Amino acid sequence: MEFGWSEQQLAFRRKLLDFLDETLPPDWSDIARDGPGSHAQMDYAREFCPKMAQAGLLTRHWPVEYGGEAGATPWEHMILSEEMWSIGDPRSSGYMGANWIAPTIMKYGTPEQKAFHLGKIASGEVLWAQGFSEPSAGSDLASLRTQATRVQGGYVINGSKIWTSYAHSADYVYLLTRTEGAAHAGITIFLVDLKLPGIDIRPINSILGEGEFHEVFFTDVFVPDEARLGEEGRGWAIVRAALHSERIGAARHEMARRTILKAVAELRRRKRFSDPVVRMRAATALALARAARLLVYAVVEGRVKARDPSAETSIARYALYEADKAAAAFVAEFLPESLLDGGDGQLRAAFASGATVGLAAGSAEVQLNLIARDGLSLPMKA
Ligand SMILES: Cc1cc2nc3c(=O)[nH]c(=O)nc-3n(C[C@H](O)[C@H](O)[C@H](O)COP(=O)(O)OP(=O)(O)OC[C@H]3O[C@@H](n4cnc5c(N)ncnc54)[C@H](O)[C@@H]3O)c2cc1C
Repeated sequence: MEFGWSEQQLAFRRKLLDFLDETLPPDWSDIARDGPGSHAQMDYAREFCPKMAQAGLLTRHWPVEYGGEAGATPWEHMILSEEMWSIGDPRSSGYMGANWIAPTIMKYGTPEQKAFHLGKIASGEVLWAQGFSEPSAGSDLASLRTQATRVQGGYVINGSKIWTSYAHSADYVYLLTRTEGAAHAGITIFLVDLKLPGIDIRPINSILGEGEFHEVFFTDVFVPDEARLGEEGRGWAIVRAALHSERIGAARHEMARRTILKAVAELRRRKRFSDPVVRMRAATALALARAARLLVYAVVEGRVKARDPSAETSIARYALYEADKAAAAFVAEFLPESLLDGGDGQLRAAFASGATVGLAAGSAEVQLNLIARDGLSLPMKA
């Protein structure tokens, strides 16, 4: 068994770090202060993603026939995610388009959809949002109600989405709607231009700062048949595979590790790291980040070996939740002053992430349910 990185992987990380050194502006930490959904960071992503694309880094992991690089493995993709996520992700929502929206278009899209969307995502010129959650449909997406009604030449969409990150500046939304049919059987996906008439985007203020969350209202929004991804009523099967990737898509283990190391360095500087309680809590949080990393790596290895998705992803996701939460709690308890206005941008972002990690990309409790069902084969209540 080999736990080290190969020469190729080390070279890739160096290339990426060199690119970030050359590309990120000196005031990057100010831009990143309010998180990837903020106006400042979305604006910056519009400069950064095209540069990343030109450097051959944005969609390097795509299949070769769609412009990916021969020999790039899921490991390089994980290295990319670690380096991006731990500095606050300058791609902003650019990661979503490249990592899971484009792959579902590759698999289920028409030739016209591929021609229209994939090139734009690969060049970094468009940003996407994800319109899944609704006021009464979060964990239970099967109860979503945003209605797409068939009309001549397309559909008319009515309803609303909530907690939509990035919506204020994104160009397109990957939208889950209800067509004919109940529960999962009636879910249909549309690739929707957010500038269409009848779409109203309203910000929701939250602990995560400006720009993170929105409500998106759809009133008689006409979308042509060509905007539908896959067959009518088959959206659930498409999105299940996408959600699987999203669960470990963000390298939270690395953000947790760097957060704890930064906090420890600061505590040492302030001569507050000799307290055995502080040291024990730092070690515990670091151990959780390490455990999460190994579990995430097990999933990556499964992808390299083309194993079918399994409960391993939910186990890794739950470990990421524990690691992120522990890092946030460590900072809040021992360096609370760093979380105030004017405090440390990286630590503030880590704290905000730890506060919401149990909900974003599939709630922690739902992951436990999936582990019980798919990993332990426990009977589920009807
Ligand atoms: C940072 C962040 C970014 C987000 N970005 C987006 C986005 O871009 N687009 C989007 O569509 N959504 C987004 N969301 C919303 C997110 O997907 C939902 O919050 C999540 O699916 C949970 O849904 P909910 O908020 O309705 O909570 P609920 O589903 O109502 O859950 C509330 C609580 O009940 C628990 N629970 C629910 N069902 C079960 C069950 N069967 N068994 C045990 N416990 C259960 C949950 O674990 C949770 O603790 C984002 C959320 C966050 C925090």
